[in-house]
Amino acid sequence: MRNLPIQTILSDSRKEKPNPETLVFGRSFTDHMFTAEYDEGIGWHSHRIVPYAPVTLDPAAIVFHYGQTVFEGLKAYRSSDGTVRLFRPEENMKRMNQSLDRLCMPKIDEEMALQALTELIQIEKDWIPTLKGTSLYIRPFVIANEAFLGVAPSKKYQFFIILSPVGSYYKEGIHPIKILVENEFVRAVKGGTGGAKTAGNYASGLKAQEVANERGLSQVLWLDGVERKYIEEVGSMNIFFKIDGEVVTPAINGSILEGITRKSILHLLHHWNIPVAERKVSIEEIQEAFEAGKLEEVFGTGTAAVISPVGELNWDGYKMVVNDGKTGPLARQLFNTLTNIQTGLAEDPFDWVLELKNELAKLA
Ligand SMILES: *Cc1c(COP(=O)(O)O)cnc(C)c1O
Repeated sequence: MRNLPIQTILSDSRKEKPNPETLVFGRSFTDHMFTAEYDEGIGWHSHRIVPYAPVTLDPAAIVFHYGQTVFEGLKAYRSSDGTVRLFRPEENMKRMNQSLDRLCMPKIDEEMALQALTELIQIEKDWIPTLKGTSLYIRPFVIANEAFLGVAPSKKYQFFIILSPVGSYYKEGIHPIKILVENEFVRAVKGGTGGAKTAGNYASGLKAQEVANERGLSQVLWLDGVERKYIEEVGSMNIFFKIDGEVVTPAINGSILEGITRKSILHLLHHWNIPVAERKVSIEEIQEAFEAGKLEEVFGTGTAAVISPVGELNWDGYKMVVNDGKTGPLARQLFNTLTNIQTGLAEDPFDWVLELKNELAKLA
């Protein structure tokens, strides 16, 4: 890792840590955050770890008006021996640069970002819960903060990394979710920003999510924005189907966010010699497979839940109950394998985990 000077200003006070048993996602934040600034002609500068605090922005800051911003999401796990593990963090930094490029924002130095993250975690390591299923969620993000009401790329940016302890997604065991296949609203189209982790994609999806929730369904499955025919992905998860022994997931097409969990699952399936295909999947194909009794499993994949089995799909008044609404064996096997690698309970044959024990020793 690079050795960039990062100024550290420690907080005078420490917040009370939340009870790991009752932690909810994204509501509490640690004592410190990392930040750096960018100015056109200078580049990234003023890298620092400072007390977690509100930021002051000009009301004309470009991010408020034209949404020039990108984010990432990953997790740190801590085992009882104190080892801190990050799952493929270099993939997140790489993807952040792809998102930044799509939004005409300046790239970050990926090694700098990893170093900053490592130093921040060193300071905040007591915030990483150790209870089974819990972790420290890491949210790197960049905003455009030039005060200018013109529609043009900002000349000033700020990069942040904030940390939030999060609870187990599956406190009462894995429960399959019910999904609304969205027929009216669309999330993204080819040529748009669906492939980037940028705020606008999520704001535009809220309306459909609201409709789904009113119907007692917890997530939206997006269809392609042109024909409403081909399956894209779920809210913040990629989607997989097991049809007659073969695992199928929509191919990356420019409007789907390429998940790191998705990538890891594809790798595992290939490694296990399970037939797998990345291709176009139409909702009619899923309906036909369901009617023929060949739709064996459906599950979503993403950092937050890792694997989220789907027990029910609702499409245009047509209901498909998958695997009796229960978690299937493949979803369970993938969940166990991935979470065991992430938490150090299993070998890491693909070198996916960055153990911070060594990195932290270097800094100490
Ligand atoms: C983050 C995200 C995913 C999942 O990506 P992971 O890297 O696996 O966490 C999938 N779809 C969308 C829209 C996302 O924002």
